[in-house]
Amino acid sequence: MDQNVQYDAVIVGAGFGGMGAAIQLKRLGLTNLAILEREDDLGGTWHVNRYPGLAVDIASVTYSYSFEPNPYWSRLFAPGAELKRYAEHVADKYDLRRHMRFGAVVEGARWDEDAQRWEISIEGGELVTAKYLLTATGFLSQPHKPDIPGIDSFEGKVIHTTAWDDTCDLRGTRTAIIGTGATAVQLIPEVARKAAALTVYQRTPIWVLPKIDTPIPGPVQRLFARVPAVQRAARGISSGILEAVMVSAVLHYRQTKLLNKGAAALSRIFLRAKVRDPKLRRQLTPDYDFGCKRPTFSNSYYSTFTKPHVHLETDSIERLESDGIVTADGRKTEIDTLVLATGFNLWDVNFPAIEVIGREGRNLGKWWRDNRFQAYEGVAVPNFPNFLTLASPYSYSGLSYFTTIESQMAHMKRLFGELRRRGADVFEVTEAANAGFLDRMTEKLDDSVFYGGSCQTARSYYFNQHGEAAILRPTSTVNAFREAKSFPLDDYTMRPYAAAE
Ligand code: NAP
Repeated sequence: MDQNVQYDAVIVGAGFGGMGAAIQLKRLGLTNLAILEREDDLGGTWHVNRYPGLAVDIASVTYSYSFEPNPYWSRLFAPGAELKRYAEHVADKYDLRRHMRFGAVVEGARWDEDAQRWEISIEGGELVTAKYLLTATGFLSQPHKPDIPGIDSFEGKVIHTTAWDDTCDLRGTRTAIIGTGATAVQLIPEVARKAAALTVYQRTPIWVLPKIDTPIPGPVQRLFARVPAVQRAARGISSGILEAVMVSAVLHYRQTKLLNKGAAALSRIFLRAKVRDPKLRRQLTPDYDFGCKRPTFSNSYYSTFTKPHVHLETDSIERLESDGIVTADGRKTEIDTLVLATGFNLWDVNFPAIEVIGREGRNLGKWWRDNRFQAYEGVAVPNFPNFLTLASPYSYSGLSYFTTIESQMAHMKRLFGELRRRGADVFEVTEAANAGFLDRMTEKLDDSVFYGGSCQTARSYYFNQHGEAAILRPTSTVNAFREAKSFPLDDYTMRPYAAAE
């Protein structure tokens, strides 16, 4: 048996997930790391997305690592560029850049049972080996480009929001935006400011809540810097509100129906205050329960549709022609630019984002599709030794991606700490622990709006091809952290290399 490996661990992805994993591994003494990133820089979604209006829609005091607060956010909801700068700051402070390789497109990874190590293949024919493999490839990282008839015959410009063309000047253009998800909600008011005519093609309306956003004045920033406890308190308040709206009202719907209905009522009142036209209001009002689809926050989205040059199109798209979009009723809208705010493909290509082959040749993607999407505590899968999958079914915290990452970091601390204590090298989650976790999550989901509410018309990416809402962890954030810090150690087998010989 040959344990010769190039790296203690390979992490796939240099976004906040991959960086959090690297910080944790380094704290645990695993310092020989490679962070492989397909893009040309770090930051994940905050590097890729640069569309106008990009900002966080979770307050910045919450949408950041708790152990690395940034006192200098310019607003309660920081613009995207600040997130990118924050990612750069974290990479520098925790000395992560030297582990990163950009433009390294990982094609797949295979557990070599004889050598007891991971072999990771990189586009171009290179193979690297590692003791541990961690995939931090994100949930929303494979853009969905709709297959609309005639799209290739369109002679104007087509832009997907994940590949924004900074040279593209929309001033005076006739622009169409397809999609009304969280991205479009941020983008539409910005495009409306520039375009001469804007048509928004909506298939499914979205619940929008007011965004209580304001600049953070210099004296408050300095107070956050001098007295971190004040910023921690602000984080506590913001996280508490989000826990109620985004977690309790959605995942514990049966117990908190009133909260859920209250959030929907607030959105309706907000819409009424912004839009006088009852027909337009009806068109913008979802017919599914709050939370079936990720709700969003904006103060300018609804009012943008009242501008004379902005039109909401709810008829379905039939085809594109060289100079415009034709809807099912035969009407054609001539356009110069088409913006695809059409989101991401999660369930066909992202779980997992690369081919991962475990013990006995088990193909993770195939296994998930043939069985059910599952991962013990949202991180580990039987038959995949020394592997943690951070963008997994049931791992996504409804509160913030950072609570997902930090609870996974806590899980890593307990797992790798125990490995070291036992002098073990190879870990694998047991079938029983994984099955028990899946059963528990499935049962808990019964309380959620996904199964207890009315979600049939939501077309939500929370649901997979089998109709299972298998992405959000259906527990409180407190529970996620508690389990990460106290899961039964026997849920894993742990052994030294020699034990396999
Ligand atoms: P999304 O929520 O999946 O929305 C995609 C939109 O495109 C939907 O309105 C969808 O309509 C529409 N669409 C897709 N294909 C279509 C087609 N063939 N014809 C017509 N319409 C089509 O994607 P997203 O807006 O990019 O947001 C994804 C997630 O990113 C959000 O839920 C959120 O978690 C995250 N996000 C976060 C922030 C932030 O500030 N933190 C900002 C942006 C995004 P249907 O609904 O009918 O399918």
